[in-house]
Amino acid sequence: MSSSQPRFTVGICGGGVSGLCIAVALSRCPDIEVHVYEAANSFKEIGAGVMIWGRAWRALSLLGLDQVFREVAGAPADGSADPQFGFDYRRSDLGSEGFLIHRHVLPYPGHNFHRAHFLDALADLLPAGVAHLGKRLVSFTYKNTPTGQVGLHFVDGTSATCDVLLGCDGIRSVVRRCMFEGLARDGRPQLTQYIEPMWTGEILYRCLIPSEELPLKNGGKHPVLQRPIIYCGNNKHFFGYSIGRQKWVNVGGFVTTPGRRGDTWEEPWVSECSVQEVVESFAGWERDLQDIIKCVERPMKWAVHQVKPLPFFAHRHVALVGDAAHAMTTHQASGAEQAIEDACVLAALLSHSSVTQANLSQALKAYERVRLPIAQHVMAVSAATGELYEMRNGLNGDGYSAWISELKTLWRWVAGEDLKTEINKALVMTRDIGGTRFQYKL
Ligand SMILES: Cc1cc2nc3c(=O)[nH]c(=O)nc-3n(C[C@H](O)[C@H](O)[C@H](O)COP(=O)(O)OP(=O)(O)OC[C@H]3O[C@@H](n4cnc5c(N)ncnc54)[C@H](O)[C@@H]3O)c2cc1C
Repeated sequence: MSSSQPRFTVGICGGGVSGLCIAVALSRCPDIEVHVYEAANSFKEIGAGVMIWGRAWRALSLLGLDQVFREVAGAPADGSADPQFGFDYRRSDLGSEGFLIHRHVLPYPGHNFHRAHFLDALADLLPAGVAHLGKRLVSFTYKNTPTGQVGLHFVDGTSATCDVLLGCDGIRSVVRRCMFEGLARDGRPQLTQYIEPMWTGEILYRCLIPSEELPLKNGGKHPVLQRPIIYCGNNKHFFGYSIGRQKWVNVGGFVTTPGRRGDTWEEPWVSECSVQEVVESFAGWERDLQDIIKCVERPMKWAVHQVKPLPFFAHRHVALVGDAAHAMTTHQASGAEQAIEDACVLAALLSHSSVTQANLSQALKAYERVRLPIAQHVMAVSAATGELYEMRNGLNGDGYSAWISELKTLWRWVAGEDLKTEINKALVMTRDIGGTRFQYKL
């Protein structure tokens, strides 16, 4: 940061994937002051594998973070991936011999990585003075100043001020709660319905398995080490793919109670559970899957929640980002992907030299108009993908041809519009913006 007066100060609540991507990108702008307020005492998340697609790779390049990601994911320099990359979809709940429904080769690269490693690498890039750990936000207030500053209030009794607040604080976002509660008090009571996340009726059993523990198959590697596999069945499915340069296999089994979507989940969202619970959930499924389940140790049980599709992401000088805005089911492995796209568009807008304190709210609205339709489309297709995997839409007759056709349709967005186009749209929407800025190749 330069010693001269900054153009504006950005407060980022939450140091997860979205918060750290924006923080690193904006901290490279000499005329913007950035602060990340993270509730935890470190950025190290006890997380597992995450997969992202070509669009997020492109976003990371635009953010100048492709090299750090490449090192973490072990990806090639140009972001290209195995041209045969994709998933094997199997019908697995009809006895000990499953069968291949479809091998879907994706026409765009997918990269998987260990989330904690990526967060570590991003945190290392933050200049001194940007990160504030152990700072749990409890509320924000709009200050009565001519430029519309935002006051931040933390659980330890301290407070801070910024010109723009980015709520990167995840699915249970305090920023979202404050924004919608405030608007409800101001005469829009219907907005309270968007505060609490919703249980999807799904339970996910999850763990990492060291690759060397999987038994050989027909003298070679277990199939799940050769390509990602989705084992499908009625109201359940199981996924597996290797991460960390094939060191581990990230596995998860979903069990859905369709009638309970939208019910309140009374227990903790994440808890330990017994191996037996996983074994029983997938008893009678095909043999290759049983070989994987035999290696499961210390599984975690997640009650899968999502944010209800919000009517907007931004109000005045506050915007919701990533899971705070659009936490979704994991069936297309797209939550972090979408969070990275949000980060890219916001960082491009805020770093633009023509965005000032005077037009910050327009820039945030432009972000919302570009990102909301895409993120909510991905939310919808992600949920529909879960329905498909668990045979709830009646498309599994006729040799699965309708099923396969629907699968291809649901994945189509991943090859959609270029992010540069979306950033340009947002720049055009933000009034009074002209020229371009150095680090974004617009
Ligand atoms: C089981 C599972 C598997 C997934 N797999 C994939 C995948 O393969 N691919 C993919 O793209 N996505 C995946 N996702 C989704 C992905 O993890 C999320 O979409 C992504 O982490 C969202 O990033 P974020 O920065 O918005 O929020 P988060 O990563 O949740 O980060 C929020 C941060 O805010 C902090 N915070 C919270 N409240 C406060 C507060 N009041 N004050 C200050 N700080 C606060 C938290 O400590 C945290 O550090 C998966 C999700 C789950 C649950």
